[in-house]
Amino acid sequence: MKHNSHIYVAYKAIDFLYESLENLHYESGNIASKKRRKDIREKGRDLERLLKFHKNRVLEASWAPDGILFDMAQYHTFKLFSKKDFKDAKKFGKEPHEKDDHTYYRAKGGGGLAFKIDHLSKIISDIIKLRNYNDNYSLEHIMYMFLLLSHYVVDAHVPMHCDIRDDVPSDKKPQDGVYYEKFKLHNKIEKEWEKACTYVGVQEEIPGMENADKIAIKNNLIEKVEFDVSNELHRNEIKTYIFKRKSLMRSVVNICIDSKNRSLILVKSKNPETYDKTIFPDMTREIFSAAIGNLISIWVCIWAGE
Ligand SMILES: [Zn+2]
Repeated sequence: MKHNSHIYVAYKAIDFLYESLENLHYESGNIASKKRRKDIREKGRDLERLLKFHKNRVLEASWAPDGILFDMAQYHTFKLFSKKDFKDAKKFGKEPHEKDDHTYYRAKGGGGLAFKIDHLSKIISDIIKLRNYNDNYSLEHIMYMFLLLSHYVVDAHVPMHCDIRDDVPSDKKPQDGVYYEKFKLHNKIEKEWEKACTYVGVQEEIPGMENADKIAIKNNLIEKVEFDVSNELHRNEIKTYIFKRKSLMRSVVNICIDSKNRSLILVKSKNPETYDKTIFPDMTREIFSAAIGNLISIWVCIWAGE
């Protein structure tokens, strides 16, 4: 996603943190027991307070991977393919990932986004522990790391970030299918989101919206990116999950596979020069709800230390 969209989603995740844990699920999809929800909500309340206190760090931290670290080429994508889009997928697949009886592969050099999220999460867990023994680790530092992590988690929800069809074809990648990179769909889609997030962000007085006078344009996605924590319907849309520390990598790969599958629905292999504009607004809602809910779930997984 682009600059203002990253800031916007990080703010929304902070806003919804405590409330969305009422809507906490097991990874199986079942709603968590009342006791689990209550316990985790209490821990989430502390994290929400701390993130709110350090909100002024959102602007820098949520954009730091693109603006300071410049690790886009290695860690902002997780480009998957499967037999659904490339008949010769198995031949080129280096790393199989299974979900719902289907195998997805990642090519060499296909981006290590899921590894980055898993690794960064472990580092933050370690820093939280080390803080008990070393005053050099401040809560401000830890909150900064949570916000830095938000960038990678949000990027995992961009369908194109998880789809090899968004890549430049080469003889090391599957051949028997269609790539769409040359049509720059990725940028087109992120631009539409950026307009809507900036527009709503300015209305809501979220600070840090860059070039708002040029970017904030009322398009048909405004209501799709709007999330108001005082609105019960919106709260019910944000689903959170109990992710386990030791299997977080697997949970993140599943998030990437969901993004890949959305990409296949949005950009049909038969018609790869454009995306399906009729389903795009509702899919935007689905993507933003998932990004907010999964970000909260990963934050809480680290914070609650399960
Ligand atoms: Zn990025």
